[in-house]
Amino acid sequence: MSFSSDIKDELCRLQNEKPCCNFSELAGMLRAGLSVRKIGKNYTLSFITEHAMVSRLIYSRMKEFVPDCVEISGEKTTRFKRHVVYRLNFRKILKMHKGLELLHSIGMNINLSEGEIIYTDFQLQDRCCIRAYLRGGFLAVGSVTSPDKSYHVELSFTNDSISSEYMKYMEYFELKPKSLVRNNNSVVYMKEGQDIVDFLNIINAHNALLEMENIRILKDMRNQVNRIVNCETANLGKIVDASVKQVECIKLLDRTIGIENLPINLKEIARLRLENPEASMSELGKMLNPELSKSGVNHRMRRLQKMADDLAK
Ligand SMILES: [Zn+2]
Repeated sequence: MSFSSDIKDELCRLQNEKPCCNFSELAGMLRAGLSVRKIGKNYTLSFITEHAMVSRLIYSRMKEFVPDCVEISGEKTTRFKRHVVYRLNFRKILKMHKGLELLHSIGMNINLSEGEIIYTDFQLQDRCCIRAYLRGGFLAVGSVTSPDKSYHVELSFTNDSISSEYMKYMEYFELKPKSLVRNNNSVVYMKEGQDIVDFLNIINAHNALLEMENIRILKDMRNQVNRIVNCETANLGKIVDASVKQVECIKLLDRTIGIENLPINLKEIARLRLENPEASMSELGKMLNPELSKSGVNHRMRRLQKMADDLAK
């Protein structure tokens, strides 16, 4: 199962506390997802979804408001990879007074002979209902990429006034969605991890939110570990560079003066360096008896270097 369908399953199981929110959620689903399609010579009004639970949710909600107005069928298709899509056929609703009233109350007038839906203004007042409306729209046309791949939430609307309306309600909750046009659809999207977490919170997808947070924490930890490893590698590089130069100097001194003839404190450190080319200065200091500080080792190394430089001249 994909991350998106897990979220939708979770949302379909939610119980709205208030009837007003049931209505707003349904409005969100229908305004975003109901469409007129031409089948043969005739137009039909239908809602198509890949998600079985979404189709069942709409079916049962419609039943609460207008009994017996929607037919549901599953179809095999080659268009979607998952092969089954669920079609909710709304043709009966157009012959029912109560049905037309419901559509009218959510700002939809259907002109089936022209094959068009005319959207009229639909105002939501209460915060609870705006959340429910956003949830409904997401159930109809939304998707979230699995957060271990990338951070991306999008909703693909067939009507651009509905996408603007949806954005307006997202902005009500201080989200900052962006939009673009793709294949004649108006796509609303966000790409920041925090924005997606906030959005999941607003539409009440709390399990998905927790899962996303866990993945974000793991990703952060992984990045931090990588940073530390890179940093250590860089330090190691510096140690090796310095050591290579020191070893060259010491070898030069050995060839010319001979290590044996160096002053005793320089002789010790020169030997240790030749035997331990990968050791840091403080590690070399600890090998001496008595131990010597890092700056003490540095001092002796500089003296060796100066002797070598003088000889080279
Ligand atoms: Zn409400």
